[in-house]
Amino acid sequence: MVKNLNYVLYLPCRLKGMVNYIIITGGVISGLGKGITTACIGKILQLHGYKVTAMKIDPYMNCDAGTLRPTEHGEVWVTEDGGEIDQDLGHYERFLDINIPKYHNITTGQVYGKVIEKERKGKYLGKTVQPIPHVTDEIKNRIRRPSNENSWDFVMVEIGGTVGDYENVLFLEAVRQMKLEGDSVQYLHVTYVPVLDTLGEAKTKPTQHSVKLLREIGIQPDFIITRSEEPLDNVRREKIAMFCNVHEEDVISDSNIDNVYAVTLLFEKQNLCAKILKKLNIRKSHNGLQNWEKFIKKIRTLKNPVKIGIVGKYFDIGTSQLSDSYISVIEAVKHASWNNNLKPDIRWIDSKIFEKNPKKLSTLDKLDGIIVPGGFGLSGIQGKIDTIRYSREHGIPYLGLCLGMQLAVVEYAQNVCCIENSHSREVDKKIPHPVIDFIPDQVKIVQESRYGATMRLGAYPALLKKGSLVHKLYGQNKVYERHRHRYEVNPEYVERLEKSGLVFSGRSPDGILMEFMEIPEHPYFVATQAHPEFKSRPLKPAPLFDGLIKAAKKKK
Ligand code: GLN
Repeated sequence: MVKNLNYVLYLPCRLKGMVNYIIITGGVISGLGKGITTACIGKILQLHGYKVTAMKIDPYMNCDAGTLRPTEHGEVWVTEDGGEIDQDLGHYERFLDINIPKYHNITTGQVYGKVIEKERKGKYLGKTVQPIPHVTDEIKNRIRRPSNENSWDFVMVEIGGTVGDYENVLFLEAVRQMKLEGDSVQYLHVTYVPVLDTLGEAKTKPTQHSVKLLREIGIQPDFIITRSEEPLDNVRREKIAMFCNVHEEDVISDSNIDNVYAVTLLFEKQNLCAKILKKLNIRKSHNGLQNWEKFIKKIRTLKNPVKIGIVGKYFDIGTSQLSDSYISVIEAVKHASWNNNLKPDIRWIDSKIFEKNPKKLSTLDKLDGIIVPGGFGLSGIQGKIDTIRYSREHGIPYLGLCLGMQLAVVEYAQNVCCIENSHSREVDKKIPHPVIDFIPDQVKIVQESRYGATMRLGAYPALLKKGSLVHKLYGQNKVYERHRHRYEVNPEYVERLEKSGLVFSGRSPDGILMEFMEIPEHPYFVATQAHPEFKSRPLKPAPLFDGLIKAAKKKK
C-alpha cells in the first residue's frame, strides 16, 4: 500500500518532465573531492530509483582537457564519443555506470568561442554583446542541453574551482539565474573545516567566509557539505547553520573515509537523499541500496593483498607525488582485485629509476603483476622498455595500455626479432625500422601543429581472434574500447613479429590496425592499443584487468 502511494507521488514529477538540477560549488580550497561528492550524491539518487546524469564545468580557457599535461591537471578522461575531458567525468561514469557524452564538460574556452563565433555571424542582431546576458545565456543553454535531449530526473552540475575565483563568476551567475527563471535547482556547497594543530579545534570561519561570498553572488546554499578529517560535531554544525543561513540538518559531514565508494553511505546515513527530495516535494520511490551496501561491506573485509606495479612517469609535481595522472588505471586495478576477492596493493613506480640504476629492475620480482599505462613523449621510455623485457623474461603478469602496447611491440622487435635500429617513430623521427609509426592521417595533423582534439579518439570496434586469450577474457567476437593515440603498430612489421611468436589477437574491422596483442607461452602478457580502464566499473571490472589480477593471483 505504502509502496503504491510512493509511486503515485513520484510519478507526476516524471510525467511533467521536470528535471532537477543539483549544483555543486566548492569553497575554501581546491582538491576537496567535489567530483567524488557529486558522483556519490548522484549515485544515491540513482539507487533510489531516479534517472541521473552529471556535468562538469571547468572555468579554464582550454576548449577541453586534451592539451593539458597530466601533472598539471590529472588524467585526461576519454568519453565514448571521443571527448578529452576532465577526470571528474570519470568519477561520474564509474559511479553512475553510464556513458556520458563530451558535451557534459563545459569550459570557458568553449563558451567564449561560441559567443564570439555568433557575434561574427551577426546572430546578436546589432546588440552589444556582454558577459551578462550573452555569455551567461550560452552557459545556461549548455547546462540545459542534457535534459533537452534526454529525460533525466536529476542533472548534477559540478562547478570547478572555488567560490571567490575570478574565473568562475559567470558560471555562478548563470546558475543563479536558472532558479530565477523557474528551473528546479538545489545548491550544494562543499567546504573545508580544518583542525589547527596548535589548537586541536575544528574551525568553521573559512566556511562562513566562503558561504558569505556565495551569498554575495546571490546564491543561498540549500546544503553545506563539510570536508574534514573527523566527523563534524554539533557545536560546529550549529555555528555553520547559524552563520550560513541553513538548517542544522542540512549541514552534512563528509569526514575522511577508507574508500571513496563508501562516501555514498556516509551521505545516506545523514539522509541527504531524502532531504534533497523533500525540498523538491518528491517522495522517495524505492530504496535500491542493498547491493551497493553489500559491495562496500565486501571490499572492507578483504585482507589478501595483490601487489600491482604501475610503471609510469607522470608522478612528480614539485616535491609531491601525484597519483591523479593514472586515476582510471588505479580504479580499474581496484575493481578487478575486488572482483577476485583480493585487496589491491598498488605501487607507483617511476620508470626513470630503472634508467638511472638498471639493478633496480630486480625489485619488480616482488610484484604480482605489472602495468605500463599510456603516455606521451620521450622521457622514461627506456625504463618502460626494460620493465617490459623484465616481465616478459621473468614470467611476471603484464598488461600494456596504449603506449604500454606500443613499447611491448618495440621490445619484442628489438630483443626477440632482433630487428636492429627498430623503435617507435614517436621516440626517434628518423629510425630506420619504425615498428610503431604514425597512423597515416596523423602525419599532416602534426606537421600543421593541429594538436587539439585530433588524435584517434573515442570508442572504436575491434574483431578478436578466436581461441586467443583476449577473446576468452572478453567472451565476445567484437568489442568497443576507447582510444587516444597518434601512433599505431606499423602493418609492415606484423608478419615478422607474428612469425617470432607474438600474436595480434584483435584488429580493427579492416584488419589494418593492431588493437590487441599477447604472447601465448607467457603466464599473462597482454596489451592493447586502447584504454580499457575507461570502461571499468566498480561492479563490472574491465576484462583485461580482471585477467591480469587472475594471473597475479596464480603467481602469488
Ligand atoms: N603516445 C602514443 C600515441 O600517441 C601513446 C598514447 C597513449 O598512450 N595514450 O600513440
